[in-house]
Amino acid sequence: MRKHESLPPISLLNTRRGGKRGAEDATDSLRSFTDLASWAVDAGVVTAADIMVKAEPEKVRSASFASSLKLRSALERFLAHRDTAARRAFVKCVNAVLEKGDGVTALRLDGDTMEIVQGYRTRTAANLPLAIAMSMLDFVQSVPLERVKRCEAENCIWFFVDTTKNGSRRWCTSEMCGARFRARRYYHKSRELRSP
Ligand SMILES: [Zn+2]
Repeated sequence: MRKHESLPPISLLNTRRGGKRGAEDATDSLRSFTDLASWAVDAGVVTAADIMVKAEPEKVRSASFASSLKLRSALERFLAHRDTAARRAFVKCVNAVLEKGDGVTALRLDGDTMEIVQGYRTRTAANLPLAIAMSMLDFVQSVPLERVKRCEAENCIWFFVDTTKNGSRRWCTSEMCGARFRARRYYHKSRELRSP
């Protein structure tokens, strides 16, 4: 089974890294269609052949980039706030992309097992948001959303899936954010002990 951190929607959310003021001054590693395309190919969302088309007008690429980032922020808002408005906006955003997309969903036989595969009628950069929306469908169906959490470390905005038995995980990567928090707690405790 795939590791939860490598689930495409989580990995997409974590392409932004919190700055000194957290989400407010976050740095975004996706600055262009090309950045996004290479993220998507690495994440296994789509193949380069399906989206990288020679001599396609720039406006197709920039529209594809814009609607992909809209999907990312709709998912982020929903996971961060969990209110009705954010949930509705997320569903609306995903459906708008699915409706516009020119995809074909089919079953493929792999030996005795069947798997769902996403194909495309045409090769175009416009397939990219569709591929991301499909990965989000899979995500909301296969991951218990109450286990999707945002790291509690200061300024960190990354999401992760808590797979601990009792749901006690609080940091994105215990090696980095968890260690930072534990160090600070130790520092405060030892100060308390020293003060008269
Ligand atoms: Zn973190």
